[in-house]
Amino acid sequence: MEAPRNIRTKAYVVQGKGNPFTLCDVVLDEVQPNEVLVEIWYTGICHTDVVAQHGGMPLGGYPAVLGHEGAGVVRWTGSAMRDKSLKPGDAVLLSFHSCRQCRFCLEGRCGTCPHMTETNFIRSARQGTGAESPISLLDGTKVHGQFFGQSSMSKLAVVTEASVIKVDARPEDLRTLPPLGCGYLTGAGTVFNVIKPQPQDSVAVVGIGAVGIAAMLAAKSLGVRQVIAIDVVEAKLKLASSLGATHIINSAAEPDLHAALQALIPGGPDKIIDTTGVVGVLEASVKALAHGGTLALVGIPSPTATLRINALDLLLSCKRVIGVIEGAADPHILIPKLLKLYRDGKFPVDCLAKVYPAELLSKAIADLQSGLIIKPILSWQDCN
Ligand SMILES: [Zn+2]
Ligand SMILES: [Zn+2]
Repeated sequence: MEAPRNIRTKAYVVQGKGNPFTLCDVVLDEVQPNEVLVEIWYTGICHTDVVAQHGGMPLGGYPAVLGHEGAGVVRWTGSAMRDKSLKPGDAVLLSFHSCRQCRFCLEGRCGTCPHMTETNFIRSARQGTGAESPISLLDGTKVHGQFFGQSSMSKLAVVTEASVIKVDARPEDLRTLPPLGCGYLTGAGTVFNVIKPQPQDSVAVVGIGAVGIAAMLAAKSLGVRQVIAIDVVEAKLKLASSLGATHIINSAAEPDLHAALQALIPGGPDKIIDTTGVVGVLEASVKALAHGGTLALVGIPSPTATLRINALDLLLSCKRVIGVIEGAADPHILIPKLLKLYRDGKFPVDCLAKVYPAELLSKAIADLQSGLIIKPILSWQDCN
């Protein structure tokens, strides 16, 4: 059977840097042998989409279709798929693209793949095949596509095989779970793959969004006894407490984070995960860390942010500061693991999500930015 081509669908297009997301008709060209045509049911909205919309990350160009927490159903698989078992009708979660050939990918640390920026932001993952982005406007204008291998702010998407994770679920069960492909994977992966806390460790999480809560829940699942949640929004701290944080710090009320952490944990936390990327917070976190402690940098700092760290202090205190992308995870391994934790009641993320009809993207983003909703998710089902 011939591969589908010239498929017309609806997608959110950002026409230029800083322009709004506009829902319009686009055309998807022929599905390549190592690609999957996915009918998107749900798309999680992540801060990175908004950052890329405004040019805060390197992006191949505009117009662009963003979206990188897709969930849906396979409609077609290419002829050269590595996983021959993937077939139309399968429910899938979509995650970032990784080359799956470099040392890092082969060791299961795909988030650390050195080609991450290039193949998720700069070019479509198709570059190896010589093909351009699969998306065009109706007048033939090329649209930057396969953002994170998927560009899933779209009713249908041509997705690179590496981004497709088959899950044992009905598609409707994935309603609150698209962030398993990015936000939840990032937080949980940072705990499981990078900071690897012991039960006797204290773990502080700065910034209680989707990534921070996932990190907290992952630490709890490992039996970590002291989990400190830090944010400036009281409602988020309440939520963190209800999900098992043993201590909370409202850093709007206690701006000296170093002092607040020292007061709570004499000697300082063993591990800190920062999801904010704010320089002052990062510097306070390095200071507050316990001897031999680790600070994992997960949030996106501004491109000009520079950390002032005293190198001798760092040496003598044996502290580690480490950048972590996508939880240094292999999504094909971590997503099924998180789905199992979720089903076992140890990763209760349903309470973070609110589902909006796809037409209400701007409301969803406003609610994310105001802190009202931790994880907005678009549903494409009634979008025609
Ligand atoms: Zn790689
Ligand atoms: Zn993301």
